[in-house]
Formats: sequence, C-alpha cells, structure tokens
Amino acid sequence: MHITDIMRGEYPTFSFEFFPPKTPEAAETLYQTIRDLESYMPDFVSVTYGAGGSTRELTHDLVERIQHTTKLNPIPHLTCVCHNEEEIQAILRRYAKSAIGNILALGGDRPAEMSYDKSRDSFQHAIDLVKFVRRFNESGAHPDRRGFGIGVAGFPEGHPATPNRLVEMDHFKAKVDAGADYIVTQLFFDNHDFLDFRERCALAGVHIPIIAGIMPITSIGGLKRMAELAGGARFPAKLLRALQSCQDNPEMVRRVGIQYALEQCHDLTANDVAGVHFYTLNRSDATRTIFDGLSIPRHRNLQPSRV
Ligand SMILES: Cc1cc2nc3c(=O)[nH]c(=O)nc-3n(C[C@H](O)[C@H](O)[C@H](O)COP(=O)(O)OP(=O)(O)OC[C@H]3O[C@@H](n4cnc5c(N)ncnc54)[C@H](O)[C@@H]3O)c2cc1C
Repeated sequence: MHITDIMRGEYPTFSFEFFPPKTPEAAETLYQTIRDLESYMPDFVSVTYGAGGSTRELTHDLVERIQHTTKLNPIPHLTCVCHNEEEIQAILRRYAKSAIGNILALGGDRPAEMSYDKSRDSFQHAIDLVKFVRRFNESGAHPDRRGFGIGVAGFPEGHPATPNRLVEMDHFKAKVDAGADYIVTQLFFDNHDFLDFRERCALAGVHIPIIAGIMPITSIGGLKRMAELAGGARFPAKLLRALQSCQDNPEMVRRVGIQYALEQCHDLTANDVAGVHFYTLNRSDATRTIFDGLSIPRHRNLQPSRV
C-alpha cells in the first residue's frame, strides 16, 4: 500500500522495524516476533539494509516473504553504499514486481568489515537515490501508477557528518524536495529534540509527515550498543538516573526503559505526531508492552500468518 494511503488514517501510524536475521535461530526469533506483532495491525513494517555482502539478499528475501505470507506492509530500506545504477534498477524492478508499495531511501552506513571507496558509488547522497526512484516511478514500471512511495531519514539531534545545522537543513530540504513522501527519524530520547526538529522542518518549508523513531532501552548493554550505533544520540540525565538506580537488576532496567519509551509515546501522541516507528531489534516483548500501555484500539485476534 502506498504511504499516502497509509498516512490517510485518523490516528498516528504505528510501525515496526526489523533487520534481516543471519542465522536459522535468529530467523526463528524474528518470525515469532512477526507473528506476535501482526495482530497489533501495524501500518507498516520496515526492513533494514546491510552495508554490503550477503545480508543484502536476506533483506530482499525477508521483504518478499513478509509481503507474500503476511497481512503486513513491508517497506525495504535501500542505501547508496556499494551500489551502481544497474543494481538499484534491478532491485527496484524486483520490488515493483512483488508490488512493494514504498522504499526508504538512505545514504547508508559505511561497511565496517571491508575497504570502501565512496567515490565509486553511483549515488553519493540519499537525494540522488530519491531522484532515481522518482525517475523509476515516472517510467511506469510499478503496478501502482504513483510508483513507490519514498521515505527519507531525518535526524532530530543532527547528523554527525554535517556539524553546521543550517547547512544540514538545506541538504535535508533538498532531499525532501527531490521527491520524498515521508520522513522517519533516527531514535531519540528527548521529545523536545523531535518537536524542535519538526518545527525547524516547518520553518524550512518541509511539510510531509514526520514519523518518530523510538527505541526502548531494555538492558545496560543495549544502551551502550545504541550509543555506539546511533552516533551522536543524547541520553538525558532523567533516563540515565532512572537506569543507574537499578543497574544491577536487569528486570528493573528493562521495566524502566520500557516505561520511559511509553511516556515518550504518550507525549508524542499528545503532540499530534504523524506516526511512531519502533526499533524492535527483532524482539516483540518490549514493543508489545508499550503498545498495550498506549491502549490503541487496534489489537485484533487475527489468525497468525505462516511467515
Ligand atoms: C530511520 C533510519 C533508518 C536507517 N536504516 C539504515 C539501513 O537500513 N541501512 C544503513 O546502512 N543505514 C541505515 N540508517 C543510517 C543512515 O543510512 C546513516 O545515518 C547515513 O549516514 C545517513 O543517511 P541519510 O539517508 O540521511 O543520508 P544523506 O541524506 O545522504 O545524508 C548524509 C550526510 O550527508 C550530508 N549531505 C547530504 N547532501 C549533501 C550534499 N549535497 N553535499 C554535502 N553533504 C551532504 C547530510 O547533511 C548528512 O550529514 C538509517 C537511519 C535512519 C534514521
């Protein structure tokens, strides 16, 4: 389903992010998570894209599997890193053939385990990928005459590669104007950062829906990994104080992290957020607890899919 149709609902959208599993055990955990979360009727689920190598094929396979065996709307992430035009064209054709409705077009993380020369990529920034998907859409190669809905990434706390926040907003605005339909943000732990980003977008003339990325902290190890992965993420004293007070009790840490994320979601919905996107890390328990806490009237006892 095209994102424009998805965003037409009355309440904020709720969506989940998965990454492609690398082992049979991890795959089983993910499929169970998908079965668990399907009954919550998310507006879409997204699947991340690796920096290179075999996990990329796993993304395509997982997206198609979700599309063909569940009632969910999968949105694949696609990145500029280590790709040429022909490869991106082939991927878009494959997704169009499977009637995938949307693409999240990203710059992409640098591959950690191989040497990498960015100048060899056909697309230097996400804006180039957005333009390419637009051209693909105009060619009429997608079964929906509008083509793929196009999402882009936003960074409420700023993207580390462009320390000048005015210049960063210029780049961001250009990316949106190139043809984006919606924005999903990097995770953040202080809603003021999101609300301020939304206001700065409006001032710059960016008026497409902005979906907030939320990640519940469920362990001290997870907190440290997040600090590493989401470079530049700020951890407010309020969150750190609450976690520190129970750091030797893993179950309490989990509860505190989930409660914090739940309060963030309550506050965001009170502030008319367009959508909330949960970084699930392929597990369902924290997301389900938050979802139940939000009392969103959309949990149905569906027959589980055979994903
Ligand atoms: C919701 C979300 C999902 C993500 N999923 C993935 C994933 O699946 N796989 C993955 O590898 N990574 C993923 N990432 C990480 C993301 O790819 C990296 O953070 C990347 O560095 C930035 O992506 P972008 O799409 O914003 O890139 P861009 O829009 O290209 O921006 C990257 C940097 O380049 C700067 N820039 C843009 N245009 C120009 C220009 N013309 N000249 C100079 N500088 C410019 C920007 O200001 C910014 O600092 C995700 C991030 C988010 C927020």
